[in-house]
Amino acid sequence: MSQDLTADAAVLVTGAASGIGRATVELLLAQGVRVVAVDLDGGALAELGGLAGVVTLAGDVAEEGTNRAAVELAVETYGRLDGVVLNAGTGGTLPWEDPRAVAAAERIFAVNLRGPMLGIRAAVPALRQAGGGAIVVTASVAGLRADPGTWAYNASKSAVLNLVRAAALDYAAAGIRVNAVAPGLTRTRMGGGPGERRTARRVPLRRYAEPREQAEAIRFLLSPAASYVTGATLVVDGGLDASLGLLP
Ligand code: NAD
Repeated sequence: MSQDLTADAAVLVTGAASGIGRATVELLLAQGVRVVAVDLDGGALAELGGLAGVVTLAGDVAEEGTNRAAVELAVETYGRLDGVVLNAGTGGTLPWEDPRAVAAAERIFAVNLRGPMLGIRAAVPALRQAGGGAIVVTASVAGLRADPGTWAYNASKSAVLNLVRAAALDYAAAGIRVNAVAPGLTRTRMGGGPGERRTARRVPLRRYAEPREQAEAIRFLLSPAASYVTGATLVVDGGLDASLGLLP
């Protein structure tokens, strides 16, 4: 058995226009896999739309219609769906007592938790049709530990880790594996920025991840090389979660 996805496989990726999602699309395309790329940012998505082997859908993963339409697009275009990467996410610091905090937190929950819940529900019939498949959700080390001020993000990413475990149990008999990647600090629009050099000193590997290093983990979990892996959280964080934070 090949340890990669077959070249005629079709994979749906959300949050595909930037960062980890974009790097995942690039790795899959290099392997000959065909992709449905979903993102809220239609402008950034247009760049991907020009590539051979990609069809795009601009939409919000927090809406059921986006998830259903993306799966339909995969089946219409490629005749099948073998893998799903539910990667779109949003975050930010929220002062607890800010009058807008509840609405902002609800939006974070909608994208980071409701999005994967809807994505799993939409994809399962097509994955069953293909005789099984793999779902990978991008969670975060922020779902394993907390950071000051990011309570809504922390809560959403913790919840999605257990959503993944529960879905893995419920769909194991159908041959659908469900796993999470938990990235640490990663150099993307969401994760990088001016404080990077200082923050990187707290990471045992002393640097941020490149988006491609997260995409490699996602690709592994999608592939037959991970055929016995389900319900797992693959932490890709340069040792951050293993550390007490007392690095010299
Ligand atoms: P990014 O900002 O580069 O990419 C995120 C993409 O998701 C963007 O293209 C954005 O338009 C899209 N998106 C956001 N909300 C959406 C929605 N509602 N519907 C559809 N698309 C939407 O950031 P990234 O770092 O590549 O983030 C990818 C995932 O990785 C997220 O789930 C994030 O929480 C997670 N993550 C990132 C880091 C990090 O340090 N960068 C660490 C841990 C986890």
